Amino acid sequence: MKSVIVVGAGIWGSSLALRLAETGWRVTLVEQHTPGHVRQASAGETRLLRCSHGEDDWYASMAFNARDAWRELGERAGEELYHEAGMMWFAVRPDGWEQASARTLATLGIPHQVLDPADGGRYFPDFRGDDLSFLLWEPQAGVLRARRATQVTAGLAVAAGVSLVRGRAVPVGGGAEPYERAVEVDGEVLRADRVVWACGAWLPQLFDVPVSVTKQDTLHFAVPPAWTTPGTPAWVDYAASAYGHGDVDGVGMKATSDAEGEPYEPENGVRQVDPGSVERARAYLGRRFPSLAGAPVLFSQVCQYALTPDAEWIIDEVSPGVWLMGGDSGHGFKHAPVLAGYMAGIVSGEQEPEARFWLAERSPSRGLRTSGESW
Ligand SMILES: Cc1cc2nc3c(=O)[nH]c(=O)nc-3n(C[C@H](O)[C@H](O)[C@H](O)COP(=O)(O)OP(=O)(O)OC[C@H]3O[C@@H](n4cnc5c(N)ncnc54)[C@H](O)[C@@H]3O)c2cc1C
Repeated sequence: MKSVIVVGAGIWGSSLALRLAETGWRVTLVEQHTPGHVRQASAGETRLLRCSHGEDDWYASMAFNARDAWRELGERAGEELYHEAGMMWFAVRPDGWEQASARTLATLGIPHQVLDPADGGRYFPDFRGDDLSFLLWEPQAGVLRARRATQVTAGLAVAAGVSLVRGRAVPVGGGAEPYERAVEVDGEVLRADRVVWACGAWLPQLFDVPVSVTKQDTLHFAVPPAWTTPGTPAWVDYAASAYGHGDVDGVGMKATSDAEGEPYEPENGVRQVDPGSVERARAYLGRRFPSLAGAPVLFSQVCQYALTPDAEWIIDEVSPGVWLMGGDSGHGFKHAPVLAGYMAGIVSGEQEPEARFWLAERSPSRGLRTSGESW
């Protein structure tokens, strides 16, 4: 039986561990805290699932396939992990990112509709769209219960035979020498046929990777009952780098920024939101949904992005059998169950990662994120 050590029980590491265990590998999953701990990016209360990625069809297809995978995982777990509320894109430019997304969705046969800004009032209790050229509706997009989904995935992995080891892993080898197919945890060296480092925002502390870590404040607002129906869609304003969704599970309506925050240290960084983030979110809400101006904050979370310069992920082999998987750039959650299958194929030697994921020089670009500009 082939063996693998996966370091990091966020959604990427947990999904990979589950997939490999279910396809015949002996899997050790090493996590310094617990699956779903609040410092990890995967422990956000919610994450969006959207297929629009501008002109890019690779991520669009993967996201569309992930929708089925999340629904199946929810059925297996006996709980709804994915809330399919639909998503509305607010397009400022007539020929920008949303237009490119609509073309890509059409080519891939992914359900969508181009609407007039005046139609926004049919989807939101109140809506102001006089600055918009059009709306792009993705009926099968929606909201993932992220922290819960991460805990469920890690739990299924353990039930499938994965050995979950608590401790902080460090690489063995490196520098002038190759990395060994081993990790050291609390002085003990664990060895396997393959090692995958899926360490999120901690990856640049362990390896030389082009990843910058930024503080991201996430805000949920207390809103009137009309906004708390399950039918309230998710929404993204790409040009304003603003996104959110209706109230899911009584946590309030999410309205937050995808613009990158200040540099951040994920282990010890202060987990309090900045007053400026609240002001900016309120200002956006008041512009787009006037009745929500002044809504109080109900719930907030601080999380971190692990950004590469071009928002493409990192999947590369740094020494024979030693793989890095990171740089999710704030758009990796939704893909996790399908990405796990892709990565399992790579670890098994059945396929190579796309060149876009290699540790090569990258040109700055943000078109894969939901962040066109800053607020
Ligand atoms: C504010 C915010 C909003 C986002 N919105 C979306 C969205 O709407 N849609 C979407 O698809 N994605 C979104 N994302 C991105 C998504 O959350 C991430 O892509 C995903 O959670 C990354 O998972 P991960 O497993 O790579 O990292 P993490 O969840 O951070 O997990 C890494 C794990 O590795 C562990 N670890 C690190 N180093 C070690 C070590 N040496 N030894 C042992 N354990 C270690 C850590 O403790 C951690 O548990 C968002 C991210 C943020 C921050």
